[in-house]
Amino acid sequence: MSDYRHFETRAIRPQTDNSLHREHSSSIYMTSSFVFDNAEQGRALFAEEIEGNIYSRFSNPNLSELVDKLCLLEETEDGVVTASGMAAMFSSMAALLKTGDHVLASRSIFGATHQLFTQIFPKWGISHTYVDINKPEEWEGLIQGNTKMIFLESPSNPGLDIIDLEWLGELARKHHLILNVDNCFATPYLQQPAKLGAHLVTHSTTKYIDGQGRTVGGAVLGTKDLIEKIRFFTRNTGPALSPFNAWVLSKSLETLPIRMEKHCQNALRIAEYLEDHEELETVKYPFLSSHPYHELAKKQMKFGGGIVTFIVKGGFDRCSRFLDELKMLSLTPNLGDTRTTVTHPASTTHSRMSEEERLAVGITPGLIRVSVGLENVNDILEDIEVSLQASKKKLIAPILTN
Ligand SMILES: *Cc1c(COP(=O)(O)O)cnc(C)c1O
Repeated sequence: MSDYRHFETRAIRPQTDNSLHREHSSSIYMTSSFVFDNAEQGRALFAEEIEGNIYSRFSNPNLSELVDKLCLLEETEDGVVTASGMAAMFSSMAALLKTGDHVLASRSIFGATHQLFTQIFPKWGISHTYVDINKPEEWEGLIQGNTKMIFLESPSNPGLDIIDLEWLGELARKHHLILNVDNCFATPYLQQPAKLGAHLVTHSTTKYIDGQGRTVGGAVLGTKDLIEKIRFFTRNTGPALSPFNAWVLSKSLETLPIRMEKHCQNALRIAEYLEDHEELETVKYPFLSSHPYHELAKKQMKFGGGIVTFIVKGGFDRCSRFLDELKMLSLTPNLGDTRTTVTHPASTTHSRMSEEERLAVGITPGLIRVSVGLENVNDILEDIEVSLQASKKKLIAPILTN
């Protein structure tokens, strides 16, 4: 059996097959290079006349196993894995774009990706136009003669905005553009952009794919012809993933479906509890009926994801007190961990954007992003509730003492 029809099986079964000791779990190939049987084999490997590992910057059995699994899960032809999510984002664009090219990009993207578009690509004459993810009617009109790629996240970090990927796939086809979707928040278990028309699916594997906050890594998955160019780029520029990290990530994928299901179940429960909470201004979660794209989310995602955002009444000061009161939840910029993590995007992950840029994508001073973990949901809720109440009391205390 080689085609593994079901997602869960595809996440578990593909494995490197060069076992010498009948070990059940894949070995870790911690080696910089691979030995040639003879001079002729070395020549043929370098000439790419035969397939095989040469050097771990190019390929390695652990990296290949991870790529094979990710391709099966995202239903893409080929892929490369990289040392971080940002290396994946950068390589997926730098390998394919040249001076004079233009990218149509959603404004609602990860902070470091925003730095790529605004600070790094302009140095090489690659320009971009930001579009509002909530105004799809404006996208087609902003495509220019030199536009080569559309880049976006759906759901976006941290706004949880959603756009119709099938519609975008058609738009990209019509204008012969490469559609590049950062699928970090959804993971292939909730949404497979390539099936909806994306040519490239990019990942920070650091998040849900690792799932336990241990490694930093990334992946670019997509069509054979595009990945060939990206592989040439990564092979020669060197953002190689460590074989050990690839092994960890490959093992992590085995539990991705079951973890995602629980993340989503806990997140929905928390979103429902917090909705209409008197200490909050708004609560956002794709599978709440109050989400502006609730119907679309239900159409293109299996569940609503593990991230819930809310705006605490009282702005930044109240928000800081709320964060300081938390006893169990971890204050850390990572997400997709078994442990619930809480982030204040305006002062951390998105702090290098200007205030104006942040407000344009809904990152207000009171916005909190919760990556809902796999702890008992009642313990998570209790920590949030107690901290919301405690931070309120402190709001009144200085007035009383004055
Ligand atoms: C974290 C993240 C990245 C960057 O990934 P790293 O692994 O931290 O380099 C890119 N996109 C999104 C949506 C992310 O959440």
